[in-house]
Amino acid sequence: MIDRKTFLKNVLAAGAGMSLMSLKPVTSYSRSTGMKMVTIMHTNDTHARIDPFPSGSGEYTGLGGVTRRAALINKIREKNQFNLLLDAGDTFQGTPYFNEFHGALDFEVMSMMKYDASTIGNHEFDNAVEGFVDVAPKAEFPFVSSNYDFTRAPGMGKFIKEQMIKYVNGVKIGIFGLGVDFKNLVLPHLHEGVVYYNPVLVAEQMVRRLREFHGCDMVICLSHIGYRYDDGRVSDWVVANEVPGIDLIIGGHTHTLLEEPVVVEHSSHRPTLISQVGHAGVVLGRIDFEFDRSNRIRRSFAVNQQIDENAVNTA
Ligand SMILES: [Zn+2]
Repeated sequence: MIDRKTFLKNVLAAGAGMSLMSLKPVTSYSRSTGMKMVTIMHTNDTHARIDPFPSGSGEYTGLGGVTRRAALINKIREKNQFNLLLDAGDTFQGTPYFNEFHGALDFEVMSMMKYDASTIGNHEFDNAVEGFVDVAPKAEFPFVSSNYDFTRAPGMGKFIKEQMIKYVNGVKIGIFGLGVDFKNLVLPHLHEGVVYYNPVLVAEQMVRRLREFHGCDMVICLSHIGYRYDDGRVSDWVVANEVPGIDLIIGGHTHTLLEEPVVVEHSSHRPTLISQVGHAGVVLGRIDFEFDRSNRIRRSFAVNQQIDENAVNTA
């Protein structure tokens, strides 16, 4: 294993081209359609996969790796500076890097890639609340979580936002986060002081608050509750169907690789897209949203980008 400093230098080198980016107008309209574009890039369940998978990893051999991910993200940003980079949790656990650095390295690398936000997965509690609090200062981006109450875990709560609002290309984007039920997943002493609330009820409140009170044009949910379960328990599928008004759910937890976003239609609102890109950082999710001059979503185009040695050439 290479040491952390050398490794971080390599990641920086991969992103060096960024500084050449010229200043562009604050609002840009695509020449062909007259529409504004916002690019959403996303990952989930990266699980301390700093390096590409080694040989002998079957279909995963050679895939992933944060240096390539950083290069791909930068390439996409060069094409559209109006973008968000989001993650749906479970950065912790999975390789010896986690045992060695306890998530600090992952958060540093994500900070270098300039993630805009992440949420809290169940594995973020693997070293208890204190373990998260120890490394959270390395994350130069907020964690958004709306259905965990951190009141009695204030050390952790100070790193968490209940909601977040970003202006991208003049579009007001509201982001909230959903975490999974601790029952049978996280031992009580590991999440001591953190209380779970029903994601559907919280999502309803958050949509109302972001849309009606804050007047957001777009609402994104960063979710670590899982895509869909046979027993019908709460999932991205359930939230998408029961809570109109979410434009995009970026999911995690079930490590589901959706080839393209699943579309849930609503009679009263625009459809909800659900996306999730497997695990271990082998795929970068990418969805380009087209907005009209009133900041209404008109169309979206999704392209999952596999992270392999050619990734940066296919962006
Ligand atoms: Zn996971």
